[in-house]
Amino acid sequence: MTRATIARTKPAQESAAPAAALLAWYDRHRRHLPWRALPGEPVDPYRVWLSEIMLQQTTVKAVAPYFAAFLARWPTVADLAAAPVEEVMKAWAGLGYYSRARNLHACAIAVARDHDGRFPAEIAGLRALPGVGDYTAAAVGAIAFDLAAPVVDGNVERVVTRLEAVDEPLPGAKPLIRALVADMLDPTRPGDFAQAMMDLGATICTPRRPACALCSLRPFCAAAAEGSQEAYPKKAPKKTGTLRRGAAFVVVRADGALLVGTRPPKGLLGGMTEVPGTAWSADFDEAAALAAAPLPLALHRLPGTVGHVFTHFPLELTVFRADAPSGTPPAPGMRWIAAGEIAGEAFPTVMRKVLAHAGVGPDGRA
Ligand code: SF4
Repeated sequence: MTRATIARTKPAQESAAPAAALLAWYDRHRRHLPWRALPGEPVDPYRVWLSEIMLQQTTVKAVAPYFAAFLARWPTVADLAAAPVEEVMKAWAGLGYYSRARNLHACAIAVARDHDGRFPAEIAGLRALPGVGDYTAAAVGAIAFDLAAPVVDGNVERVVTRLEAVDEPLPGAKPLIRALVADMLDPTRPGDFAQAMMDLGATICTPRRPACALCSLRPFCAAAAEGSQEAYPKKAPKKTGTLRRGAAFVVVRADGALLVGTRPPKGLLGGMTEVPGTAWSADFDEAAALAAAPLPLALHRLPGTVGHVFTHFPLELTVFRADAPSGTPPAPGMRWIAAGEIAGEAFPTVMRKVLAHAGVGPDGRA
């Protein structure tokens, strides 16, 4: 029987002790985050939801300016719902995972239209909103509405697998981890408990060299007792996916305008702006790629390639640059954007890399 299995049968007072120790630490050392209400302040579900969507796969530091900009521009969920989706996508550009920006907007519309501008105060209602998965529903439910839902992000996974010496590798161990958190959480302060676990993982129980001497959970921690903290969480070997290759065409008109298109709304980087290019495939043929050039112009193949890693595959792009005379009409289905609009356009990171490779700066200047 593993330590983790044993934990599921602990008596209630034994499960409560780690939560009490953790909350006592949190009351003194909680992080001050722009989206977090101060003790005694009412919690704004819109802020909680917005920050949770932004924080998926991204750091607190990266999110902070985006969060401030969104709140300044769209102070309520109804304001965000009323915004044109293109504006939301543009404001999101740089945070990655653009399907989340589309879902963010769809969710704001659903809350404004179907719930009178108020987020549902129960897990099933939250879970039914666009872009709200199990994690986000639990996080918003716990933090905004004090629902006793187990909130498990990467930080919490690390803390719990160490605490209970969970030998099962991720992602298979997720249901067990959720059950362990459900066992451990304090039903009288679920929101604080969730945030305390996140804070502990982010500041004390770090991936490398955790500060166990400062940790309020040290007396309860199996990994620390064994001295094997960094062996957890155990992970199944990663599948990296097959390399895909393709060509990108950076076409700049004499007045500095750039030829662009919009990706289909669904799928990878859906709805984002891109320069014209070929499909991305494992059997890409560079010579044949020239046939996909959007306009009949002299193409200059730039040395090197642009590399980018998506969740499921790595990508390598060959970049061609062409200069178009003034007055050139756009290729069918495409448009010119003025040099001054490039910085504000909803380009995904891979396209920003392509533009930089071709010597096109955010202001359109080389
Ligand atoms: S004692 Fe160390 S390994 Fe265990 S939860 Fe605390 S920081 Fe993490």
